[in-house]
Formats: sequence, structure tokens, C-alpha cells
Amino acid sequence: MTTSPPKMTKKIIIIGSGFSSISAATYLADSGYDVTIFEKNSSFGGRARNFKAKGFTFDMGPSWYWMPDVFEKYFNDFNKSVSDYYNLKKLDPAYRVYFGKNDFIEIEDNLEKISKTFEKVEKGSSKNLLKFMTEAKNNYSVAMEKVVYKPGKSILELVTPGTIKRLRYFTTNIKSEVSRYFKDKKLRQIMEFPVLFLGAKPENTPAFYNIMNHADLGLGTWFPEKGGMHKVVESMIKLAKEKGVKFKSDQNVDKIIVRNKIIKGVISNGVEFYSDIVISGADYHHTETLIPYNLKNYNESFWEKKVFAPSSLLFYIGLDRKINNLTHHNLFFDVDFNKHASEIYDDPKWPESPLFYLNFPSLSDKSMAPDGCENCFILIPIAPDLEDTEEIRREYLNIVLKRIEDISGEKIVDNIIYQKSFCVKDFINDYNSYKGNAYGLANTLFQTSIFKPKTKSKRIRGLYFTGQLTVPGPGVPPSLISGKIVSSEVIKDYPNQ
Ligand SMILES: Cc1cc2nc3c(=O)[nH]c(=O)nc-3n(C[C@H](O)[C@H](O)[C@H](O)COP(=O)(O)OP(=O)(O)OC[C@H]3O[C@@H](n4cnc5c(N)ncnc54)[C@H](O)[C@@H]3O)c2cc1C
Repeated sequence: MTTSPPKMTKKIIIIGSGFSSISAATYLADSGYDVTIFEKNSSFGGRARNFKAKGFTFDMGPSWYWMPDVFEKYFNDFNKSVSDYYNLKKLDPAYRVYFGKNDFIEIEDNLEKISKTFEKVEKGSSKNLLKFMTEAKNNYSVAMEKVVYKPGKSILELVTPGTIKRLRYFTTNIKSEVSRYFKDKKLRQIMEFPVLFLGAKPENTPAFYNIMNHADLGLGTWFPEKGGMHKVVESMIKLAKEKGVKFKSDQNVDKIIVRNKIIKGVISNGVEFYSDIVISGADYHHTETLIPYNLKNYNESFWEKKVFAPSSLLFYIGLDRKINNLTHHNLFFDVDFNKHASEIYDDPKWPESPLFYLNFPSLSDKSMAPDGCENCFILIPIAPDLEDTEEIRREYLNIVLKRIEDISGEKIVDNIIYQKSFCVKDFINDYNSYKGNAYGLANTLFQTSIFKPKTKSKRIRGLYFTGQLTVPGPGVPPSLISGKIVSSEVIKDYPNQ
């Protein structure tokens, strides 16, 4: 009688515990690989970590839950559903956009209501909105079915009947597309807002990314109840652990071990750990500092030439009273948008008069603040690599607190009982982020799909990359997709037998 050889389970080390890493880990563990996540920080979730202070719970990064279909698909891949792990609440209003003192537009929770709002601002715009949104929805379907789950290896991936029919959307930009449909400046700004998530100016973002308008106005803004965005991290970790993924925190990877151009493991906190495969969900540029210089995929000048998504100055603030005059998500577009954008991309400097985003998650989830208190998050987008000092942070806090008071009538300066800031230096220290970028590479035309940094090392067998710097790009849903893409590549290259 012959016995079959013992099954050799391949060992995989994944660097980082952001959404892409947890996603890749779960797919691979589900396919029988022995997967361990090494995270340098003491808590998991990467840019989506949270922390607790004085009874407040602060999500540190993402706060907009868009594209619920992508999260559902992720859990469905493991015969689970989002509702097995957390409940989603659709926000109404989804958000409010301020254009001046007591001058705002509220975006409600469905297209019918939103089109009525548009009509009040610009006659005829409701019809145009519906036309625009039909196109956006079609593009979204093509993107989801034919484009975003592709590994970005060959231009042929993009050549499908659906994309060929929509070629026009790749040769024009979202700014001119929006201006074909809407005349009013405020409506134009609302329609250009969603692509800001992709990290570039609207005029440099292909019109195909009107898929983000479908994500925004079509699919709506959601909130994971009882814990906010970190609830998603916790749920994904729970699922990953059910599949056998091991999680190690305070485990900085100092070096990736390579012998004869083949992966042998990593050195972490001075100790060698063996593995057949290493996947890095840490920032790409940083990962390549962990391997021999001559084996990198990209040199310094490659990164220097890239358009990075902005960095951010963030404030996590605890207030000792409830807020009445603002909603969960608030955008302050009451200053010159083009000037601020130029100070991020063309002539990088601290903005003279910043646009900013203000969020009160405790308006939707009381557990995120003590009784009678409110949890507040402020984000000012800025160019990466700017000088970052305590004085500058303080100066900008004063600027935005004053603007909040002047524009909305909410005076919060005297109610602050907790406050912490996070900026360029922290992005570098905490995440090894290149120049302190907040969310990776911008999705300009020539940084989309096949133009993204590759998911696989060209020179080292067994080394892979995932995360917001690879396909499909920045954001939580793309990071989930990125983990799935890289896991498929690994499964193809290293069948687990
Ligand atoms: C302020 C902010 C707001 C955002 N808002 C939204 C939003 O509202 N909606 C949305 O969809 N997206 C948003 N994003 C984007 C989204 O959060 C990111 O695209 C996504 O979380 C990135 O996930 P990732 O897997 O690429 O990596 P990351 O989250 O960056 O994780 C990488 C991990 O690698 C670890 N690491 C680095 N070096 C090492 C090392 N040497 N050893 C071990 N570990 C290492 C880091 O500590 C980190 O945990 C926001 C991002 C920021 C920063």
C-alpha cells in the first residue's frame, strides 16, 4: 500500500494589519495556508485603528462607509454576511456641505430627495442629476464586474466591451464632465467632492471615476453601529481568526530575508521568522527599504515623480456637551476650493484658508462618547512632507474652531475636555508612510490599474505587495479588494499541495 506524501502547508507572513493585509490573510487562510500577521503598532487596523481616552472612542482614520456592496461581497466570499458581524445604519442626512455662514446644502439618503434639493438650487438640474447618475451607475457596474478586481498586469484586462464603449470617460476628466451637467458652483462642488477620496484634483481624475458619485449619492453613506469604522476591523479580525490567521502586535518587521532572490522570511524585533512567502501591506516605498537595494521594483526617482494623495492634519476632540447645529458628517467648502487644491498639489504649502471636514460619530453612536458628551474629528487635507510642528497644529486648530463657530454657530472652543492631533510626523512614525501621505497614491489616469506599483516583486520569488498603493487604489473598499487580488496571485503561483 502506498501512502500519499504529507500535505506541506506553505507559511505566509503578512506585514501590517490594515484592511488589505487582513483581507489577504483571510482569503489565504481559507485556502489552507499558514498565515501570520506582523503589526508594528500595539493595535490592529492600520490607518483605521482606534483609541480610547477619557471615555471617548476615536476612529483614527476612515469615517465614511461607502460601497456597502464591496463589504458584503467580502463576507459572502466566506459564506458570511455583514449582518453576521455588525449592523449598518444608513445616515440621513448623509452629510451637510457649508458654503458660507448658515448657507449649506444637506444631502439626504436617496436620489429622489437629493434631486429635489438640486432643483431648488438650479432649475433643470434634477433631470441632469438623474442622467448623470444613470451613467455613473453604469460605469460602477462595469468597474465592479470588469475592472477593479483585476491584478493590473496587462492593458488587456481593461479591454472589455463595457470599457471600450466607455472610452470617452477615460479621456475626459470629472471636472469637465460635471460642468457639462451643472452650472451652479455649489452643485458642481458637491459632484466633485467624492473623487477627492481618490487623492487627486477633479481636473486630473478621469471621468470614469464618476463611479464615486454612484457610491456617494446612489448607494449612500452608512455607519457601522456600536463601534463605528473600527467595528469593521474587529469583524474582519474575528473572521480571519476563525479561518486560523495568527495576529502579532508590537512586531516591527526590520528586514525581509532574501537568499538567492528567494524569500526566506523576516527579521522582526531582532528575531528570524521563517516563511515561504511574504506579503507586505505596509507602505510600498517602506517595504522596499527592507530588501536589498538592487532587488527593488522601483527606485527613488519613480516615487519622486508620483502624485501622492494628500496628508492630513487631524484632531480628535472630546466635548463636554451635545452638539445641536451640525450633523454626523460636515464639509466646510466655504473658502476657495481651487486655491486650497493648488496648495496641496501645485505649490505645496500650509493652506492660507483651508477646506476641512468635521465629523461627530457620537451623534449616530452614543457609545463613542460619555453621557452628555460628543466625540469630534476634524480633518484638514494638506500636501505630504510639509513642516509639522506643535505651533502649526495649534494655529490650524484655532483657525478651524473659529470657522466652525462663525459658519455654523456652534461654539465648541470652551467645551473641549480632550484633544489630540495627528499629522505628517505621526503618519511617518506610526505607519512608515512615504512623506507622511495619508492615503497612498492618487488615482490619476496614469496611476490607475496597470500603472499602479505591481503586486508582485519582479526580482524576488515569494514577495508580494498589497494595500492602498497597489490596485485598485486608496480607500477602505479598494483595500479589501486589493487583499483579494494579491491572495489570488499567491494561490496561482504557490498552489498549496
Ligand atoms: C485620515 C484618513 C481618513 C480616511 N478616510 C477614509 C474614509 O472615510 N473612507 C475610506 O474608504 N477610506 C478612508 N481612508 C483611506 C483608508 O483608511 C485606507 O485606504 C486604508 O485603510 C489603507 O489600508 P491598507 O491596508 O492599505 O494599509 P494601512 O492601513 O496603511 O496599514 C498598513 C499597516 O502596516 C504597518 N506597518 C508599516 N510598516 C511596518 C513594519 N515594518 N512592520 C510591521 N508593520 C508595519 C502599519 O503600522 C499599518 O498598520 C482614510 C485614510 C486616512 C489616513
